[in-house]
Amino acid sequence: LQEIDNLSNIISRLPSLGPRSAKRIVLHLIKNREYLIDNFISCLNDIKHNIRYCDSCHNLSNIEICNICANARRDHKIICVVEDVTDLWAIERSKSYNGLYHVLGGTLSAISGVAPEDLKINSLIKRIASGGVEEIIIATNATIEGKTTSHYLVDQIKHYNIKISQPAYGIPIGGEFDYLDDGTLIAALNARHDLVNG
Ligand SMILES: [Zn+2]
Repeated sequence: LQEIDNLSNIISRLPSLGPRSAKRIVLHLIKNREYLIDNFISCLNDIKHNIRYCDSCHNLSNIEICNICANARRDHKIICVVEDVTDLWAIERSKSYNGLYHVLGGTLSAISGVAPEDLKINSLIKRIASGGVEEIIIATNATIEGKTTSHYLVDQIKHYNIKISQPAYGIPIGGEFDYLDDGTLIAALNARHDLVNG
């Protein structure tokens, strides 16, 4: 049926879903259409119209400045730089960090053609240059691209006379932030080490 194929095709393009699980989801929606489909449509509409990126840190938000940046009880002197919102979620889940974030939106990659101007690097420099920041934690993933990005960032910000640190990874090379358990993440953040002065 064309209607079922159309929706399955869209769903199968979502992360970690293949064609078979997509079909099962469509079947589930059809069987529960009374209470699921209208809710589904209205949630998708809410996301489409209300969710945007924070003007300061590029976290997801439904207002100009996200509730982390707007929270006066958080430490505005520390910025933790992450690749994507999933990394921010992982750190927030661990409840081990009380500073602000900066979401780059990816990593530098020669192979995929991602250049510095494709990431939110300029806005990070602006935040640092505007003053008040005492420490930048570079929490990119321990992948080759993550490390390349980290080196580039250090080069760009080291002359600002602020502390630049990195979480101590208790994880294998290539491990990604979002897959760390909370204990490992808390330990890695607490034991962060200085990237410039050793
Ligand atoms: Zn924000």
